[in-house]
Amino acid sequence: MNTQLMHSVAEARQALSAVRRSGTILGLVPTMGALHAGHGRLIEAAVGECGYVVVSIFVNPIQFNDQRDYALYPQTLLTDIEFCQALGAHAVFAPSAAEMYPHPQSSFVEVTGVSERLCGEFRPGHFRGVATVVLKLFSIVQPERAYFGEKDAQQLAVIQRMVRDLNVPVQVVGVPTVREPDGLALSSRNQRLSQEQRRIAPALYRALELAAKRIAMGERRPEMVKLEALAELERPEIRVEYFEIADPAEMQPVARIEGPVLVAAAIWIGSTRLIDNFACSPPGGELRAIRERCPRLPVQDARTAEEILGYDESGLPG
Ligand code: AMP
Repeated sequence: MNTQLMHSVAEARQALSAVRRSGTILGLVPTMGALHAGHGRLIEAAVGECGYVVVSIFVNPIQFNDQRDYALYPQTLLTDIEFCQALGAHAVFAPSAAEMYPHPQSSFVEVTGVSERLCGEFRPGHFRGVATVVLKLFSIVQPERAYFGEKDAQQLAVIQRMVRDLNVPVQVVGVPTVREPDGLALSSRNQRLSQEQRRIAPALYRALELAAKRIAMGERRPEMVKLEALAELERPEIRVEYFEIADPAEMQPVARIEGPVLVAAAIWIGSTRLIDNFACSPPGGELRAIRERCPRLPVQDARTAEEILGYDESGLPG
């Protein structure tokens, strides 16, 4: 099977309406190209669940708050197409910026709350650009399912919120982060690291892992968790942009760790920005979250939840 290459919106609409009419489940994997095994995992998930998979490759200018970052973004379209073909994607949609934004854009998607802290605080306009281009891609491709990486957990939360709030008929699927053997999350930006910077980069993973371990052991004060984790990142080559323990649904820092949380961080190594995150829970935290949502849950039902979540009673706070 040859992967079909589509550059224009009209081409995509025409080819995909025939696919949709045939009753085939259409999946979309939105990317900015420079594809690696992290993107590969998304494509594999889509190919496993959908009869026809479109990978979009578009470096979206309106989500870059830093024009240098946009100009330096790696572009490797030919190898990307081969990569998609090898994984069984049916089509690549690779429009130009002029094709996606033929007129000055006046309409934008603003997802408030969930987009405001963490990366949103340091990249003004970023999530507005992401939500806008993803909604445009959804309108062009009209997929039933769309695949996003948990590596960009806040982006995934923003898209899930947009789809919910605007009744967009797309099932958003989150895919776990793919890492190098030393823990570094795969990213197109890793290519920009020098050998020495690449050697240092896994400190981000180690710091997140340390934080997750402390939380799993029962530390409930975010400040204490952060203190220890930040020590791991204390090196002259690293600048920490943020290191937060956040509510995974709202993406807001928590005052106390009472249930499942996301430990998320962004660091700079030289001129390269790296982000990563870990989802984790305090002991008994998931059960506590269920109890809080259902305060009158009978003890009998709480026990069932315990069994489902795999906690034994000894691990539970009183
Ligand atoms: P990007 O090309 O960086 O915009 O990423 C496109 C999609 O691939 C996004 O949904 C990312 O979250 C996802 N992605 C990027 N890196 C990884 C990774 N290491 N593991 C899993 N998904 C990833």
